[in-house]
Parts: sequence; C-alpha cells; structure tokens
Amino acid sequence: MDLDIGLDKKTGNGSSLAGKTVYIPGMDYAGSRIFASVFKSMGVNAVPNVNSDSRTLELGSKYTSGEECLPERVTIGDFMKVVLSPEFDAEKSVFFMPVSNGPCRFGQYAPYFRLVLKRAGFDHVNVYSPSGEDGYGGLADDSITMLRKTWLCLISSDILRKMLHKVRPYEKMQGTTDKVFERAIERMEYVFSRPGRPFVQTRRDVLAALGEIRYEFSSIPADYCKERPLVGVVGEIFCRLNEFSNNDLIRHVEELGGECWLSDICEWVWYTNYEEKKNLNYAGRRYSMGMLVAKAKHFIQHRDEKMLYGVFKNEFKGYEELETEKLMDIAKKYLHPLTAIGEMILSVGKAIHLYNKGADGIIDISPFSCMNGIVSEGVYPLVSRDHDNFPIKSLYFDGSSNTSIERDLPLFMEMVRGYMNRKNKLRVYPGYFG
Ligand code: SF4
Repeated sequence: MDLDIGLDKKTGNGSSLAGKTVYIPGMDYAGSRIFASVFKSMGVNAVPNVNSDSRTLELGSKYTSGEECLPERVTIGDFMKVVLSPEFDAEKSVFFMPVSNGPCRFGQYAPYFRLVLKRAGFDHVNVYSPSGEDGYGGLADDSITMLRKTWLCLISSDILRKMLHKVRPYEKMQGTTDKVFERAIERMEYVFSRPGRPFVQTRRDVLAALGEIRYEFSSIPADYCKERPLVGVVGEIFCRLNEFSNNDLIRHVEELGGECWLSDICEWVWYTNYEEKKNLNYAGRRYSMGMLVAKAKHFIQHRDEKMLYGVFKNEFKGYEELETEKLMDIAKKYLHPLTAIGEMILSVGKAIHLYNKGADGIIDISPFSCMNGIVSEGVYPLVSRDHDNFPIKSLYFDGSSNTSIERDLPLFMEMVRGYMNRKNKLRVYPGYFG
C-alpha cells in the first residue's frame, strides 16, 4: 500500500501519521538515528533500524529470491524482523523506503518489499517512498521545512562520521572517540527532535551543538602523527556506510595502521541534483521553472552545507570534497557521465580526487554482484596506471564471510605503505598534526 505521508501543509506536522511508528532503514548508523529525530519533531514516532544481526541475514535470505544485492537483503531482513515481532501492529506501522530511477536494484526496493509483504500476508502494511527523480523533492511535498531539516541532518551525520574517522585512529585511549561520537549523535537527536522549531531556529541549534561537538572531539587525547597512511573508501553507498554489511572494514583498516576518508551521504544528494539538472537540459528545459527551482534548491543546500562545515574549518583542512561537476569531469576519461551513471562514476572521480589530495590508496566497497563495483573495478587499473600506480582495491561483500578483509586487506595495506613512501602528491594536514 502506498502512503501519502500527509504532512500538514501549514505546520509540517505529520498529522496523518499521528499514533503510527515509522521505521527507517539503517543504512548509516548516525544518519538513520538523526533522521528519525526529524520525524519525531513532527510528533511522529520513528525508529531507526540500526541493529542488524544474523537474524537480519536469515530473514533477508528467506524472503528474497537470492538474486538481490546485499543492501536489499539487509534492508528487507531488518524490516521483516519488525514485521514478524510479536508486538508488531500493521495498522500503526509505516516503513520508509525511498526509491531511485535507473538500472540499479535500488529502484526495486520499495515495490519488491511490497511484494514480500503481500506474499507474507501483510499487504495492508504501509510503505512510504519518496523518489530520487526530482532530487527527493517529494519528501517534502507539503513541507519545505521537513526537507531542509533533513538536509541539515544529512550534513550533520556526515560531519560526525568524518570526525570519528579522523580522530579514532590517533586516540591514545581506545574507545574514547566512539564514546564522543555516541554522545554527539545523542545531542543531535535531541536538537532535531525538538517540536515546533522553525527551520532557522533549528539551524541555529545545530550550529551551536556542532560547536560543542567540535570541542569534545578536539579534547580527545590523541597522537596525531603523520606516519599513518590515508585510505579513501569509496563504492556502493549502502555497503560502504553500513558497518554490518562491510564487516566493519574501516575499523580493520585502522587496526592495520591506516586512517580512512569515507565517501559521505551528501555526495549522493549532490549527484541526484546534478542528474536532475542534466535531465532538464536533455528535455530542452534549460530555461524553465523546473530548472530555476533546481538551481535555487542547489544554492540553498550549498549555503547550509557551508555554514555547518564552517564550524569545522580547521579540522577539515586537507579533506575538502570536490563538487559533482568536477568529479564527473576528472572521471570522464574513464567513464563518461553521458553513458555511465551512479556510484561507478562517482567512485572513479572520487578515487582520482583523493589521489590529488595525497591519499595513499583507495578501497572500493561493493556488494557481491553489484554492477557499480564491477564496472569501476574494470577501469581502476587504467586509473592507477595514469596516477603513479596509486593502489586501488575492490572488495566485495555478500554477508557471509570476512574473507576479503582477512586475506586481502593486510596485503593491500603493505602496498599502501609502499606508495606512501614514494608518492609525489603530498597531503595537506590540519594544523593539529605535528
Ligand atoms: S548500487 Fe548495487 S548494491 Fe546498491 S542497491 Fe543498486 S544494485 Fe544494489
């Protein structure tokens, strides 16, 4: 059953969702938790599904055909855990499942989940699906405020995750950074869940909270030495962000002496904006109201992002991201944006960008059988050859083993260290490095 989310046009309150529980997929631990708080600010009970476990995979496999990618199995497995729990009330539950166009299986998640529900006898369960076709504008059909708060939530979760990955490898006492990260998420949950706050007020609250979070991260006793190699982590968005799906790869890289620069969530939002404008151009609507709205949205989103990142100006020195148009430009020698779409081209562009920023290697994370990883893996030898034999490794995950990490990662980290000692592109370090 499709659901009209029914936000009240004037207040943005989720009036038709009153009394219901909205379940959010747990793609990213911080992002899903904070996003659930945005719903809570509208008086809607929202639960992030961030506790994937062996039962997730068991149910994901049971209710799918075996042809689906790992992210789809994990998402469906987590949702089915909820559906099959004794306290589940179909009338009071809504599953949040955004969709996207294109050849990727992500476009099938929502209709497929409805089919799974129907076959399991739960066809009366609500599934709510905003679309990537209009840059997920449908998410806020009735409430610009909701959309803008969601954007702040995505930026904030990216910032928190980046800080975790920047500080944790250098901490003097194991576990300190994880605790600060956890507290930072809780603080953001509080800020975003406050009801009745206009957008500007929420943004002010977020900026203040980020200032405190910055202070907490910078107070962690750490030894910022320059001997640790920097490893870029790119690839399929769900698998690279979902620690359960990638067997906590980043922690393994850190244990082997590296620091990771993980591609963030907002990268995908910028890309859907880019595609929206590209499609309007193709449709001969270069000078149209649609284009005007798309550009205005881009401008506002960019301004918000700049404000929030401004709090961490010193911390992110040397970690600057590249805008989508430029990523497409540097990737087009290997994959052209007119013919290659989605994460494959983003990953290739990002790998080159990180090479230019002085990173020491790239890991491309992909679910087994995902064409994004297969295509980008096909061009990485050329990318590496053209960039000083920069080490790039594709790792595939299917939810069943840790083989890639145990067997391949130590060897790859040796290659990374070798490159680090001979590289021509030097890193710019934030001031707190010695
Ligand atoms: S990009 Fe690949 S793994 Fe991700 S949803 Fe699409 S098909 Fe699945």
